[in-house]
Order: sequence, then C-alpha cells, then structure tokens
Amino acid sequence: MLTAETVKKMAKSMGADAVAIGNIERWEGAPTQMDPRQIMPEARSVIAMGFRVMRGSLRGIEEGTFFSNYSAMGYGGITYLYMPMTVINLCKEIEDSGYEALPMGHQSDWRMIDADGFGRKNYSRPVEAGRASPDVMIQLRIASFLCGLGEIGYSKMLLTPQFGPRQRVGIIITEAELEPDPLYPDTDGPELCNRCMACVKECPTGAINGTKTIKVNLAGHDVEWGEIDCAACDIAFRGGLATDEELSEEERYTTPMFGKNVGRSPHTPFYKKPRNLYNTGQAVCGARGCTRACMISMESRGVVENTFKDKFRRRKPWTVDWSTEPEYPSDLVMKGDGPSATPEAKPAD
Ligand code: SF4
Ligand code: SF4
Repeated sequence: MLTAETVKKMAKSMGADAVAIGNIERWEGAPTQMDPRQIMPEARSVIAMGFRVMRGSLRGIEEGTFFSNYSAMGYGGITYLYMPMTVINLCKEIEDSGYEALPMGHQSDWRMIDADGFGRKNYSRPVEAGRASPDVMIQLRIASFLCGLGEIGYSKMLLTPQFGPRQRVGIIITEAELEPDPLYPDTDGPELCNRCMACVKECPTGAINGTKTIKVNLAGHDVEWGEIDCAACDIAFRGGLATDEELSEEERYTTPMFGKNVGRSPHTPFYKKPRNLYNTGQAVCGARGCTRACMISMESRGVVENTFKDKFRRRKPWTVDWSTEPEYPSDLVMKGDGPSATPEAKPAD
C-alpha cells in the first residue's frame, strides 16, 4: 500500500535530500494561475522534495576563482538533469500503485505569468471560461512551505532546517491521498529566518528590498518577504549591474551584460556573460546575498542540520576594480532569445 512513509523512503533512495507532503486543501484560495488543481483537478496531495546544492559548489565563487561549478552542478544540472530523474522515477512508483502523478522537476519557462505575477502579453488564453491560461505556474517555494519543507525567508528563498537556503525544489502533484506533514511553523523546529537582513546587505544589486515587503496568507499563516526586483536580479545573476534606467521586458533578456542600462558589477570578473550551462546555469553572482550570506548567517546561529568542520567564509570577500578598464565593448550582440541569449562578437558590416 502506498503510504506517506513509503513515498518519502523512495524519494530519498532516488536522490531527494528532504521530502514533505501537503494535502491539496492547503491551496484553497490560491490564485487560479498558480493553483495545482487547475492542472490536475482530482489532485489530493503535493510532494515537495529538496535537492541540496553542495556547499563546495559555492567555494569557487566565494574565492573568486571558479564560477562554472555552481552554475552547472549547483543550478542547471540539478534543475534540468538530476531532479527530473528523481521526480519521474518516483512518479512511476506512484502510478504503478494506481494513482496519477505529475513530475515537476524543472522551471516552468512556459508559464503564463512572470516571476512578478504579471501576465505575459499575447502569450496564451484559457481554453474555456473559468480555466487558467496555459501554462499554470506552481510557485515551488510556496508549494514547499505548504508541504512543510521549511520557511520562506525574508529573501523569498525557501529555508529548510537541513540545508538553510542551499537547495532546489521539485514537486509531484498526485491523486494519491497521503498523510500530510505539519507546516514548518507549526513544528517545534528553530526559527530559520531571524530577519538578520544579511541577504539584503550582500545582494550585489539591491534586488531584495529592505523595507518594502509582500505579505500573503498561506494555509492560515501570515508569511512576509522583501519585495524582489526580479529585473535587477536577472541582470546581476548574469554578472551585470542594473542602473536606475528602466529596462523593458525585451531588454531584460537581450541586453548584453554591459551596455545600455547595464553597468559593470564589482562582483564579476567576466568581460562577457559566460555561456549557459545546463540550460539556465548562468549564476555569475553566485547567489551572494540570498544564498551565501544567508547560509553564513544561519550556520553561525546553529540552525542548519548539515554542519561542517570549518566555517564557510574564510577570507575577505573579493570585489573587482573595473575603473581602469574601457567602457562596454560595443562589438557584442546577443544571439538567441530569452534567458538563454548569449553575447557574441558583432559580424563585420
Ligand atoms: S539572510 Fe537573514 S533575513 Fe535574509 S532570509 Fe536569511 S535569515 Fe532571513
Ligand atoms: S541571485 Fe544574486 S542578485 Fe539575485 S537576489 Fe540573490 S544575491 Fe541578489
């Protein structure tokens, strides 16, 4: 018989590092575009799984000497290779027990709403009145909270007692009714986010607002996080630096790392945005604020179960002095669309 206990055991044996289960009623009141029942109307449970990012994968960026490993093995490789295999294999077991199961182990680039919750213009429409427009976006961090995997920190990152902010999340939506876990704030686990604001202070582009917040109610719990400037994060993520100039949706993804409205960041040593690794792996900023600073803060408070013999930050954080370098090299054009676009040398006229 399929039980929550057997599902969790299987998930861990297949590669998940943390697992928790939520009953579908916890999504009552969810916006239509983010409601799992729009995808699977007979869904009974959601299974959320955390896949740890190796602390060692952050070491090269922390030292300023090796950036690709976090992007490949800590980001794109987990999201687009390792996690899909685990969620698909677990779904096979659930479906062999007679219940439909939908594996979601990637980012939903087809989603109708963007990360800010706004609809993409002229993108898709409902197939009939009363249904969501495709694709519905399940917010993985909110799903994790509703399954009891952890808290949502001020940074809007999922914080778990096992790894702090250091994981990616995959979920399964299933028609199987499984014993749910309590939400993390209802357990006697330690407070994970203590509002230390290290994430705000160390984010290289100020993408996490230190005063303006977003408040939501999730299954009866008031949850609040800092307003996130996703456009600024997108740029810093690729190694640029957002300026005060507004960027259109188009420009957000097609502007080279330096150039119109994008400055040079002291937090990258690259002249051009490096090639993506495993589809979206291009995390040049190395999650300096939302992951590294937060992890350091949580580890220092002793609220992370995955402990190490030595502390993470061992040397003074580096910055790059670009002041002696020439301005943005105008011989670059962007090739490709969306977040996968990469800069290339401009062809000769
Ligand atoms: S850095 Fe501090 S304030 Fe920010 S999410 Fe982590 S614990 Fe919360
Ligand atoms: S990924 Fe980088 S830019 Fe974005 S919020 Fe985190 S620290 Fe800030």
